Amino acid sequence: MTNYIMIKHNNKNIVEHRYIYEQYYKCSLLKWVEVHHINGNKRDNRIENLEPLNNKQHKHKHRNIDSLIQLINNRLEFISLFGVK
Ligand SMILES: [Zn+2]
Repeated sequence: MTNYIMIKHNNKNIVEHRYIYEQYYKCSLLKWVEVHHINGNKRDNRIENLEPLNNKQHKHKHRNIDSLIQLINNRLEFISLFGVK
């Protein structure tokens, strides 16, 4: 949550990505709808990077993304420790 870009709208602090999505599609997202960042970058709020999901779908996406990030981090750590041949 802390990584998200916040904006002030009608004197309220809101997350920018939901606002961008609603403006673009001229809709009002229901509370339970979560807007996912497709490329994993929570600060990349381009409309093509945003995807509305329910909580279950969202968790599923993150299981995949987070395990991929973990894999890359482990690999980078390995390379920094032992170098690459
Ligand atoms: Zn997400």
